[in-house]
Amino acid sequence: MGFIYFTTIFIFIEDRLGFKSCAGILNALVFTCFALMSFVSFVSCVLMDPGHVPSNFVPEIEVGEVSDQGTKKNGVNSRLCDKCSTYKPPRAHHCRVCRRCVLRMDHHCMWINNCVGFGNYKPFFILILYAATASIYSMVMIITSALQKDWELKSGVSHVKILYVTCGSIMAALSLTLGTLLFWHTYLLSQNMTTIEYHEGIRATWLARKSGQNYRHPFHLGVYRNIISILGPNMLKWFCPTAVGHLKDGISFPTSRSS
Ligand SMILES: [Zn+2]
Ligand SMILES: [Zn+2]
Repeated sequence: MGFIYFTTIFIFIEDRLGFKSCAGILNALVFTCFALMSFVSFVSCVLMDPGHVPSNFVPEIEVGEVSDQGTKKNGVNSRLCDKCSTYKPPRAHHCRVCRRCVLRMDHHCMWINNCVGFGNYKPFFILILYAATASIYSMVMIITSALQKDWELKSGVSHVKILYVTCGSIMAALSLTLGTLLFWHTYLLSQNMTTIEYHEGIRATWLARKSGQNYRHPFHLGVYRNIISILGPNMLKWFCPTAVGHLKDGISFPTSRSS
């Protein structure tokens, strides 16, 4: 992260625009903001608790009904975690790496060495958003800087050329990866779905079709309500990774049936 930041700032922006020009300073400032926000989101993801099941959690009767909506196997009995020997609220799953049940679990992320769950899904989404924007920004800077240069074709391979091609390739690969990840999680966010629920949904859809029914993800409340349930009702705080005051207990979730 630091490497990308310093090469972009000190080599490419400096090279293309120079820090003496207004555009150079502006570009450096904008890029610094994205890089800084990525770093803040990253630290938030690592430090924030994804959400654990309270020790006194006892499932209510409706819990079974909500789970039953999609997959009939998810009755109250099957929601008992056989590893923790406690009940799991709806949308919670057991993480083998963390060795505990995680609320609204999305996946265990190696990069942040933490689970992505109820408590830190917002900073995780914001992290991908800022990191993807920063890497696309950096890639554009490198490409425009390279196009602007007068490359002497006969001069052969120089160190500067190697640096441009290497950094350009790294940033292009990173932009593509982060862009795809951002696209995927934007889709999940709009559907109020976790990665685990997406995979469960494929099976549930198949089972429902077999019995001539339609499967609908039970927590899908409409795109706007799905977004505010994760990013918060205040639009001004949508892009702040630490603004998670709107999150409730992570044990019960409104469903399309209840609303
Ligand atoms: Zn468990
Ligand atoms: Zn985990």
